[in-house]
Parts: sequence; structure tokens; C-alpha cells
Amino acid sequence: ASAPPPSEAKPGLISRLIGRSDEPRRLLDDAMLENLEELLITADMGVDTATRVTANIAEGRFGTRISTSELRDALAAEIARIMAPVARPLPLYPQKPQVVLVVGVNGSGKTTTIGKLAAQFKAAGKSVVIAAGDTFRAAAVEQLQVWGNRAGVPVLTAPEGSDPASLAFDALSKAQADGADLLLIDTAGRLQNRQDLMEELSKIVRVIRKKDPTAPHNTLLVLDATTGQNAISQVEIFRKIADVSGLVMTKLDGTAKGGVLVALADKFGLPIHAIGLGEQIDDLAPFDPDEFARALVG
Ligand code: GDP
Repeated sequence: ASAPPPSEAKPGLISRLIGRSDEPRRLLDDAMLENLEELLITADMGVDTATRVTANIAEGRFGTRISTSELRDALAAEIARIMAPVARPLPLYPQKPQVVLVVGVNGSGKTTTIGKLAAQFKAAGKSVVIAAGDTFRAAAVEQLQVWGNRAGVPVLTAPEGSDPASLAFDALSKAQADGADLLLIDTAGRLQNRQDLMEELSKIVRVIRKKDPTAPHNTLLVLDATTGQNAISQVEIFRKIADVSGLVMTKLDGTAKGGVLVALADKFGLPIHAIGLGEQIDDLAPFDPDEFARALVG
């Protein structure tokens, strides 16, 4: 699992901007900058970010003739500069267990990401416990058990419809008793009833703090990178209902090249701890801003 497969991906930004032109150098004028800005907006970067990136590209270059490769390098450098501060692996703390609450809408890839994270930590020699906190979705619990088996990690479950907070409490008790390094807690992602979800998440936090006042140590928001601008509103919503400390961006292996990541980094500055590059257990990679920028620019 490293870079997304270039073959099936959409053409990068530069080839969409330049087309098939074989002109060696082109005038960087208002028209070209306007096209660039529009292209960045259609690539989900959002208006503010697109405007700023375009202005920075123009600076010192406006009115000059620029080659395709110069433009490509300038754009990639500009994007990588925005992304560099957010490229940070999940911080590990000395607390045992480190409690990681995982939130996000259904379908974003929460279950899969928890399975992948569990496998990665296990491979790094850490002992992990998973709590299947989405007790209302039997399928999610089953799926998590499959992932737990694959990763060789115990998955704590509770009967369908039972209180997720009490499961989280029991899971933390078990993780503490076992001396586990990490506890990953899955949560429900029903945004249809935001008030319910907010109460459910705050109750989980309240209850686990009875066992460990410093928990949760991370609150990971899992976002599907193919949802484009939708990801922005999901961050806004989840930041209101949970103390989101970092992001995992999934499905970056598909045709979407994840321009929305640039908008997210620029707007919220939340760390991107990892990216999902497929449905297999090892398809989770650290976020590499340079590689990402090059793939996006094309
Ligand atoms: P949840 O509802 O948030 O728990 O989402 P799931 O973990 O069940 O994932 C929803 C779907 O997305 C499943 O079919 C996963 O296999 C798929 N999925 C998750 N992460 C990735 C990824 O990084 N790449 C791809 N291509 N598919 C993913």
C-alpha cells in the first residue's frame, strides 16, 4: 500500500489545465490563472484555498512564460506546503491503555480503519482491544469481529441495542486489567439524529472518564475522501459533537484524488494521521504531503 494506482485515476490537475497542448511555454496571464483557480475549485479545494493557491502561483511569475513542468512543480510545492503541517502520525502516549475513540458517519470506513489500525499496532508489538460501540448496527459489530480475527485482536461486543457507554466502560476495564496498550472504540455514525448521537458520544466520554480521567486520548474522525465537499461539513458537524483530535481519510485509492484534503488542511488544520488506500488490512498508510501533492497535480 503506497501511492494510489495512477492508471485508473482521473488525469491530474496539470493535464486538465494544459490539455494536449505541446507548446513549450505558456503565458501566465489572467486567463490562465482564472482557469487554474476554477480547476482547483472543481477539484474540491474550496474557493478560499483555490484563490490563495492561485495567487501564490502568480506571485513573481505573472506575465512570464512558464513551462508545464515549472507550473507542475510550483503547484505541487504550494499544495505540499499547505499539507505538511497536518501530516502527523497518531501520537502515542505513555498512558496504558491509550483510549482512541473513532467517530464518523456510517460508510466512511470506520470499521475498516479500526481493523487496519489494530493490525498495525499489533504488528508494532502493541496489545490492542477493540470495543464494538456501534451497538445498534448488528452488521457493524459482525464486521468488526471479522476484522478483529484478521488482526488477532479481541473485540468486545454487547447485545444489539444495549448502551454503548456501558460497553465502553467494560472494554476499558478489560483493557486495563489485561494491561493493553491501546483501546479502540467504534461508535455509531447516524447523523440523522444529531442530538442522539451527541448524547451518545458524550455519555461514552463521561463514563470512560470515571475509569480514566485523561481518556479518550484521541478522537479520530474517519472521512471518506470521495465525498468531496461533504467531508468539510462532516468535520464541522463532528467538531460540534465530539472533541475531534485528528483525521483518517479513506478511499484515496479510487478515482478521487482528494483535493478536499487541501481544503480540510487549510480550513481546520487537524492532523491527518493516516490514509486508507484499499479494503485490505494493510491498506492504511501514513499521509505523505509530497507524494499526495504530486499525485493530485499529476
Ligand atoms: P463504516 O460504516 O464507517 O464502519 O464503514 P466500513 O468500514 O464498513 O466501510 C464502508 C465501505 O468502504 C466498505 O465496503 C469498505 O470495504 C470500504 N472502504 C473502507 N476504507 C476503504 C479504503 O480506504 N478504500 C476503499 N477502496 N474502500 C474502503
